[in-house]
Amino acid sequence: MTVHFNSKLATIPGYTPGVPKGHSAEDVAKSSLAQLASNESPFDPLPEVIEAVTRAAGSMNRYPDPEATLLRQRLGERHGVDPARIAPANGSCEILLAAGEALLEPGAEIVYAWPSFSMYPNLAAMSGAREIRVPLAKGEVHDLEAMLTEITAATQLVLVCNPNNPTGTYLPFSEIRSFVERVPDHATVILDEAYIEFQTVDDPDASLQLLDDHDNLVILRTFSKSHSLAGLRVGYAIGSPAFRAAMDAVRQPFSVNALAQAGAVEALKHGEAIRSQVLAAIKERARVEEGFKAHRLLTATTGANFSWVSLGEDGAEIEELVVNDLTAAGIIVRAGRGLGGPGWLRISYGTTEENDRMLEALGDSVRRHS
Ligand SMILES: *Cc1c(COP(=O)(O)O)cnc(C)c1O
Repeated sequence: MTVHFNSKLATIPGYTPGVPKGHSAEDVAKSSLAQLASNESPFDPLPEVIEAVTRAAGSMNRYPDPEATLLRQRLGERHGVDPARIAPANGSCEILLAAGEALLEPGAEIVYAWPSFSMYPNLAAMSGAREIRVPLAKGEVHDLEAMLTEITAATQLVLVCNPNNPTGTYLPFSEIRSFVERVPDHATVILDEAYIEFQTVDDPDASLQLLDDHDNLVILRTFSKSHSLAGLRVGYAIGSPAFRAAMDAVRQPFSVNALAQAGAVEALKHGEAIRSQVLAAIKERARVEEGFKAHRLLTATTGANFSWVSLGEDGAEIEELVVNDLTAAGIIVRAGRGLGGPGWLRISYGTTEENDRMLEALGDSVRRHS
């Protein structure tokens, strides 16, 4: 006799880590490897945040506050929303999985764009719901009209990633608003705004004004990207109090650990410093995009901290060779094939020095193989 795991396990996609096999994240941080595969911030966490986390470590013999009361209060002040609407989480990925648990089951439907965030396919696989993937439109943007036509009486969840991972493309708030207004009330819309701080079109908090009129809307944010805290694991949802209660019902009470709560509370005190890091990343983005152009590489219009780079007509054939060349040069990027976009690369922005190294190695490799 041998152990049999349940049948859904075979269909759940595994997560491919951005760091090469056999390396820990710490090894990579200390090495000269340019880690441009996970859209992390190249900036160190703020020293005040490191201090707050260190201080909190002194009382980690105790369980954390299961309600994350202080963090919810500070987030409420930061966004001008009732803390009763805010569900902090062990990274915003926890909310995605918990939303699948709370809303999906066999017979239900989930609608999302593709290519989009690699976690989304897990929700259908884990719940047995039917998934409808709507191809991106021209320009690698969400096709919101096509998504609307896929919504039925069985639709329980609609995911919109804005800016979209892996393409970086951003849909203006006016389009998001008209979409949310047209989605029927029975379908929950999760607006995944992991990169919202990096777009320069709208006020990053524009979408929050839709919450009052749409109980079925959930906005997802994270400290992982803009706040340089990917390793701390803290994100949050803003939705209806009922959505928050559903999240709490399906996950363990202590999912946001004490260090994460303390670090996030401290980070919220330093909006100016975070904002200047985000502005530096936006400035660097313009320079890196010029570099791609100089190598005659086309990219999708990005509003994020990464680019989606086309390797051209024969891109699918050279993609693996190019990724291997970059890896050999100590530069880790994401192959598009594993993200639903063969022939493309997703490249996060690192430090200026890392970006220059990446541009040079990429230019060399593409010239060699095309
Ligand atoms: C990185 C990312 C997240 C955030 O994940 P965390 O669990 O908060 O680290 C969520 N959505 C998208 C689209 C992302 O790229």
